[in-house]
Amino acid sequence: MKITAAEVFVGGPGKNYVTLKIMTDQGIYGLGDATLNNRETLPAAYLQDYLIPCLIGRDPRNSEDIWQYFYRGAYFRGGPIAMAAYGAIDMALWDIKAKLADMPLYQLFGGKSREGALVYAHAQGTDLEELLDSIAGYQEQGYKAVRVQCGIPGMPSASYGVSAQKGKAHNYITDFQGDAPHEEIWDTDKYLRFIPRALDRIRGQFGDELKLLHDVHHRLLPREAAQLGKELEPYRLFWLEDPTPAEDPAALRLIRQHTTVPIAIGEVFNSLWDCKQLIEERLIDFIRISATYGGGITHLKRIVDLAALHEVRTGFHGAPSHSPISMAAQAHLNAWAPNFGIQEYLVLDTPECDALFPSEHRVENGLFHVSDQPGLGVDFDESEARRYSYKRGFHPVARLEDGTLWNY
Ligand SMILES: [Mg+2]
Repeated sequence: MKITAAEVFVGGPGKNYVTLKIMTDQGIYGLGDATLNNRETLPAAYLQDYLIPCLIGRDPRNSEDIWQYFYRGAYFRGGPIAMAAYGAIDMALWDIKAKLADMPLYQLFGGKSREGALVYAHAQGTDLEELLDSIAGYQEQGYKAVRVQCGIPGMPSASYGVSAQKGKAHNYITDFQGDAPHEEIWDTDKYLRFIPRALDRIRGQFGDELKLLHDVHHRLLPREAAQLGKELEPYRLFWLEDPTPAEDPAALRLIRQHTTVPIAIGEVFNSLWDCKQLIEERLIDFIRISATYGGGITHLKRIVDLAALHEVRTGFHGAPSHSPISMAAQAHLNAWAPNFGIQEYLVLDTPECDALFPSEHRVENGLFHVSDQPGLGVDFDESEARRYSYKRGFHPVARLEDGTLWNY
């Protein structure tokens, strides 16, 4: 069996999905996702200019050797651009392998460990009242877990994960206007004063059963994060996410010394080596890396196994920037992983997205039910894809009120 061709498509409804399609001499094709949010043309160029020419003629069933060929074979290893490109190839090869076996992908990992995988939705409000309504809406739809993000009283800009305007819940991060990111103002003191009060109100209104998550988005210093963790302990968070910048494992030691709040980190990680110390020293409770820029299924499965050895559970990144292809790759891992924790899930099933990526995966009552179609269980409609083209977008940047640049 040989790879005969591969093509990269960039674009999509409201997002620049980077989709890889690998064709074989037996008519079976595989799909991969290389969407690196707001840097989408870079993995696409890496695939087209350097990787696809090396793929032609190789046996697609040798996914391990092909992964090692690109990772070990490169002198400059890793990083989000390269790992997104390797990840897309790897997903497509597993898709081909499972289609050859005529099985849903999770069967190749060891079958299902659960019927439905717990997901969490994003509740948000420009103020607490709007957030409470947003949480109630998700609870009515059957969600058992929600991430709660709220505008901070007196803060001049929207805080992370909150739309700037009331009632506008979608696309609150990527800005497709202008030639540079817009700038937001961050005020740590106002944030630290408000969040425990907000969690007190949320827990009081929604009771004990609803699982609550909160994303700090790297905004705190280690001592501040330790203080916040302690203050939030009475509200029994499912997790506190990214309390400090993820590249500093020593910060987590300080936080761990002061609080038992569960910690989730890693959505910006690209490799096992980024995760290793945090997992081995048990400095986190959930690992957040994704199949997209974490090198695909081959590499992610190794991370899941290392995490299992240390009682760290999975909580893969699931921002809307990931296409339904990588969400499917993660869904198959979630169906199998003995140390599965939760999956971030943002509703992507607009009619346009469904037409571009047809699939039978479904979320019901807050659980993700993986499709039993052979392979990843997601298809890609090339005629739909031709309706879309690349559009440059930016994440905002954050500054303190005095102008000092801060962590976004
Ligand atoms: Mg996050």
